[in-house]
Amino acid sequence: MNDLRSRVPGCIEHERLEFDLLELRTRGQYLQRLRGLTRQEQAEWDRRERAALARLVDHEMEHGCGR
Ligand SMILES: [Zn+2]
Repeated sequence: MNDLRSRVPGCIEHERLEFDLLELRTRGQYLQRLRGLTRQEQAEWDRRERAALARLVDHEMEHGCGR
């Protein structure tokens, strides 16, 4: 899992994590518009989004590929 080549331009793992985050956001917003979310569902989406962001930030710090 840990492929520690330093400063890979266009890090694929970084892109993947960024895509995950974007997808989560988009899906949450879509559901919100489609039928609305309960307070509980909204909290769940919020939690997932923050977790995805944390994974991205962790990866940047470990890998040094942050922009
Ligand atoms: Zn990376």
